[in-house]
Amino acid sequence: MKILVINAGSSSLKYQLIDMDAMELLAKGLCERIGIEGSKLTHKNVTKGIEKVFEQHMKDHSDAISMVIDALVCEECGVIKSMSEIDAVGHRVVHGSETFANSTIIDEKVMGALEECSPLAPLHNPANLIGIEACQKLMPNVPQVGVFDTAFHQTMPKKAFMYALPYEYYEKYKIRKFGFHGTSHRFVSAEAAKMLGKPIEDLKIITCHLGNGSSVSAVNGGKCVDTSMGFTPLDGVVMGTRTGFMDPAVVTFIMENEGMSAKEVDALMNKKSGVFGVSGVSSDFRDLGKAADEGNERAKLAIDMFCYSVTKLIGSYAAAMGGVDAVVFTAGVGENDAFCRAKIVEGLEFMGIKIDKDANNIRGIAKDISSADATVKTLVIPTNEELMIALDTKDLISK
Ligand code: ADP
Repeated sequence: MKILVINAGSSSLKYQLIDMDAMELLAKGLCERIGIEGSKLTHKNVTKGIEKVFEQHMKDHSDAISMVIDALVCEECGVIKSMSEIDAVGHRVVHGSETFANSTIIDEKVMGALEECSPLAPLHNPANLIGIEACQKLMPNVPQVGVFDTAFHQTMPKKAFMYALPYEYYEKYKIRKFGFHGTSHRFVSAEAAKMLGKPIEDLKIITCHLGNGSSVSAVNGGKCVDTSMGFTPLDGVVMGTRTGFMDPAVVTFIMENEGMSAKEVDALMNKKSGVFGVSGVSSDFRDLGKAADEGNERAKLAIDMFCYSVTKLIGSYAAAMGGVDAVVFTAGVGENDAFCRAKIVEGLEFMGIKIDKDANNIRGIAKDISSADATVKTLVIPTNEELMIALDTKDLISK
């Protein structure tokens, strides 16, 4: 069985073709500048290790998907003989609101419900929907499945997801914590249970997805009970360009004192803040690390603030679950940045969290980095959201 995984953005589209029988990634690629001048598709045949760039105008997502299919069947760089070899398409959908607590096969009714979720993620969901529509048009007989970033967090208890606003704001607008990166938190928590050789039902796991956008989740018995992102992906950990936790009164203060509109202050908090805003150097942790090593105090401060925000979440989620068996690091920073991992768990020895300096000196591989006397395991686990999407798609269409 071959499954195409699609992650459609407003002007980009990422894809992977996965052979589910061999559990092998066959091809992957990226369409950029869809609908904008200078569009191109970069396609990689993973099996043969060939990369090819197609520079051709894509007026919309249908054009992009057509080009992806052409690349997948291309004699020189393709991996399948014909489009009919694609058994199903799995789509990443950012927001499933309270409607979608699980992945789902997409039919007309689901499309309607997805449209209703769009106001909650106006930048992402409409693009995801366009990707689905383009696939439906080009592959009308191939099942399409939606996998939601928010779904895994739907098990949070109400005391964790409600905000202490007047209740009618929840009823009227669904203002509540939704959480994001759910597919990643679900994948790495399941992998952690496998690594530990224990049923996930018996484990309390804290998963730290630390990338450009970051979130931390408390996973008790395989179910998410709390997560750090909120109504939008702005809340929680200090991020590349996003503030993370902050007193909401700061927003109105800045608006009043800087004469900013709601839109402007939203952009300030999402795009100009985080480690980028504090350091004035970069949102990229590699650049920050370099600047800090060269003595840049604000870069050091930004890294410290990021790490401290994660440390505090680990403590609070251990409290939320009444204990913790494992802490998992994943995504760009979590998988690669040994310095940040060490800094985050520094001082958590009192909880039994202790890492081995040499074991921690790795990047991008799955490894238990706990020290021999740690009572809580610390694991590095590369995330694979595309594989999780493909696995859900396979499960649903096999039913
Ligand atoms: P997103 O998917 O949210 O865009 P990623 O999970 O790809 O982000 O993570 C991007 C971040 O990971 C960047 O800040 C980058 O600096 C960091 N990163 C990637 N590789 C390394 C590395 N070798 N050392 C430190 N940080 C790294």
